[in-house]
Formats: sequence, C-alpha cells, structure tokens
Amino acid sequence: MSIAANLASVQARIAAAARAAAREPSTVQLIAVSKLQPVEAIREAYAAGQRHFGENYVQELTAKQAALADLNDISWHFIGHLQSRKAKELCDGRIWVHGIDSPDAALKLNARAAGRGVIVPVFLQINIGGEESKSGIAPEEAERAAAVFAACPALAWKGLMTIPPQAEGEAARTAFRRMRALRDTLSKTHGASLALSMGMSADFEMAIAEGADYVRVGTAIFGERPP
Ligand SMILES: *Cc1c(COP(=O)(O)O)cnc(C)c1O
Repeated sequence: MSIAANLASVQARIAAAARAAAREPSTVQLIAVSKLQPVEAIREAYAAGQRHFGENYVQELTAKQAALADLNDISWHFIGHLQSRKAKELCDGRIWVHGIDSPDAALKLNARAAGRGVIVPVFLQINIGGEESKSGIAPEEAERAAAVFAACPALAWKGLMTIPPQAEGEAARTAFRRMRALRDTLSKTHGASLALSMGMSADFEMAIAEGADYVRVGTAIFGERPP
C-alpha cells in the first residue's frame, strides 16, 4: 500500500476510535513518526495532507527540517531521548520536545531556550510501567518534576508523554489509564490544561479510548523502518 493509503487508513481508525469513545476525531492529533525514513517519504505524506512529523534523533531531525524547508507549515516533534549537549539544536521555538525525562533536562533546555529568546513546547516523559529499559520519570516523582517544569519561563508545558509496557491488552490499558489520572491530577494542581502524548502503531486506538490527544504512529504509515 502507498503512504497516502496507509495514512487514510490510520486517520479512519483514529476517527473511529475517537467516536467510539464519544470524542470529536479532530481532538486527536496524528504525529507521523518518520525516523529512519527518507525525506521523499515525508513529502509523500505531506502531499497527502499530513503536517505533524516525529523524529527520534536530533541530527536527523535538523537535517530533514533543512531539506524540507520549502514545506513551511510542517510541524516537527522530537520524540527521542534528549541529551543535554544537543538541546541547543532543538531551541528554534517551533520544534516540540516530547521526551523530557528529568528536572535537570528541563532546566538545561530552559536555559538554552531563554538564551535564544524562544519558548519551547515540551512534554514530561513518564515511565509509567516502571521499566528499567525505558526513560522517563517515575509517576511518584512527577509532581516534583512538574513543579520544576512549571517554573521554567522558556518552556511551554504541553503535557505528559509515555511509552507503555509492550504487553498486549490489559497491561497497556492500565498504563494509559494511570497516565490519564496523573494528567488530571497535575492539570488541577498547576491550573493547566495538559495533553497526553501516547499511543503508537500497535496501540493507538486503545490510547485514544483512554484519552490520548497526540498519537505517534510510524510503522502503520511508512511501513517497516530500514535497519
Ligand atoms: C518509533 C517511535 C514511535 C512510532 O512507533 P511505531 O511502532 O513505528 O508506530 C512512537 N513513539 C516513539 C517514542 C518512538 O520512538
């Protein structure tokens, strides 16, 4: 199937999942995860109407951003692990950063962004399954990290991001539900309207049922990633 056909199918599944949860389909934003895919594939998705793209590696993101500078209404989302020495390159005030996984990373990004006079939209990454292999803040630490986030003037705190345990079915659903509860609590404490970035090719419909605002889908749109 073509990228355009895959996109249409994913969009239809998003809309169906949203309606089944009594949600307006337009409240769910699709981020097409284009990591390791060529710029031609991004152009194809763009031509089919896709505007939000996700990348995991800073260098790859900035190279693609430059190569696709003619597509001026494209939105970039950095969804990988942020190393502080690369933070500067993400501070153009347009890239959204989904993977802030420590108060220290937030402070460093804030300092970089302030130095450049921009405000960077960010998500706090939560390790909801408590898995050693995954980055993110433990749910119990979230309040403390949130206080740091909220006090960073050069960061626009958009919400929480997670990659749940890969287990099929109930374990992932439980993780998504806990994310939603945590989001509700933090939104209340901080008087903010925080969004949820969760759901990938294997589980985006379940994530939408549990309240995802941003889903990050790669394989279902672009096919398997090249090695
Ligand atoms: C690669 C990646 C995705 C997309 O995964 P697919 O299974 O290809 O849909 C989503 N989120 C993050 C953080 C990723 O690293």
